[in-house]
Amino acid sequence: MGLKPGGHYGVVFCGGGPATTGILVCAAEQGRLDTLLGRGTCIIEQSSAIGPGAIGHYPISANTRGATFLTWLDKAGPREAFDAARNAGSTYALARFATVFPRLPLVGEHLASLGDAVRARVESVPGCSVVTEHSVRELTLLDSGGAAITFEPVDGGARITVTADHAVIAMGARPRADLGQLALLPGLDLRPHEHKLCHANALLDERVGLPPGLRRAIARTRKVVVVGGSHSAWSAAWVLIHDRGLRDDRGRPPRVTVLHRSHLRFYFRSVARARAAGYAFDETSDVCPQTGAVNRHGGLRADAHGLAWAATHQGRAAGPVRAISLIDEEGARATAAEALDEAGAVIAAVGYEAILPAITWPDRRPVRLATTESGLQVTEQARLVSAEGTELPQLLAFGLGAGQRATGMLAGEPSYTGRLDAVRLYQNEVGGIVLDSLLGSARA
Ligand SMILES: Cc1cc2nc3c(=O)[nH]c(=O)nc-3n(C[C@H](O)[C@H](O)[C@H](O)COP(=O)(O)OP(=O)(O)OC[C@H]3O[C@@H](n4cnc5c(N)ncnc54)[C@H](O)[C@@H]3O)c2cc1C
Repeated sequence: MGLKPGGHYGVVFCGGGPATTGILVCAAEQGRLDTLLGRGTCIIEQSSAIGPGAIGHYPISANTRGATFLTWLDKAGPREAFDAARNAGSTYALARFATVFPRLPLVGEHLASLGDAVRARVESVPGCSVVTEHSVRELTLLDSGGAAITFEPVDGGARITVTADHAVIAMGARPRADLGQLALLPGLDLRPHEHKLCHANALLDERVGLPPGLRRAIARTRKVVVVGGSHSAWSAAWVLIHDRGLRDDRGRPPRVTVLHRSHLRFYFRSVARARAAGYAFDETSDVCPQTGAVNRHGGLRADAHGLAWAATHQGRAAGPVRAISLIDEEGARATAAEALDEAGAVIAAVGYEAILPAITWPDRRPVRLATTESGLQVTEQARLVSAEGTELPQLLAFGLGAGQRATGMLAGEPSYTGRLDAVRLYQNEVGGIVLDSLLGSARA
């Protein structure tokens, strides 16, 4: 495990998925890896490897082309530190999908080889450690500044505590728990359907899986409702119609109704392409001024784009999926209510919330964290904030469910204010924000 004697680090990363490794890759691209490691870095990860996190368990295609996962290849230095990952079979395999959307399990394999290279580099520096198969349990703020991080072996055993100037929480996310509370329209909510309700994560994460009772109900009714209009919602619809086990004896998939509240946004590489497709968008607020892309961050991409486009622009007859916009009108309400009543399962694609350890003040009182309607609140520097409004400069949160929101500082369409969750962003702009927070913004 190679923990540092004295147990004090500059930075402890809690969780070693794509977000954490993204920061180290970003540092390598910016020539700041040695500075980061020179402060003393420790990564604590509960699985046996750092790098892939959850993404390799999603049985869907990536929402960006293979090339976006490989941009680090040319830039990360020192070069020799990353040669093993550059030359890994999974990296070559991913490169074959540079111009198309690769399957995420292949992306996961590539991220595992990148994680191995990051691990080897971190462990090669005196005063740095990578601790796998240990779970972070508690963070305690220290009077002197910094934090104490307590973790324990996943198989049981004594707890270990180290201290750090900064702790970065990047432990991924869990499905939102309050699904039954969701109101779709005034007078239309999911409470009557709680018995057949589950989060989209059951379809999107192969480690979870759709409960057998819901599979049987879908087989019986041939109908499913997906609630939500995001990438996860359309990916869940895609999984439903491609799951061979859900086909009837004539090979037909179940009929999927997507109930979405917000306006569906589609990504296009350029204004010209969006216009050519006949997409109605706002040429100022939906276009990224730096890249010229339409809905760069908020737009549906890849398979989700294809499915949603077919359902909304090619008419109901075009496919097994239909979209109903939840507008407060009698017709929409009646159609949505009927779809919910008839469905064998209701899949809620309504977001994730960050996984956090217990966090306490120096006197061990629990820290209540500030949240917004969409989850954890972090500052533009990725710092956590207490519910009383105190910024906690020693605690950063990053990655799925905890991520930065678009603020206009990063390239993107002005109309998008949601979270920024993507491997390419962790390794580039968003990773850079965390790095600036940890090291200061002065570059070497
Ligand atoms: C369905 C779906 C599809 C997506 N598709 C894409 C895509 O195509 N392209 C893209 O760029 N992004 C995609 N994302 C967004 C994002 O890039 C991925 O979700 C990514 O896996 C997030 O990385 P992460 O490190 O934040 O979280 P995770 O991947 O969940 O990694 C968190 C890590 O923390 C560890 N951990 C958890 N708890 C503890 C603990 N107590 N102690 C120690 N370690 C712990 C976990 O074992 C894991 O390794 C997708 C997200 C979803 C939900």
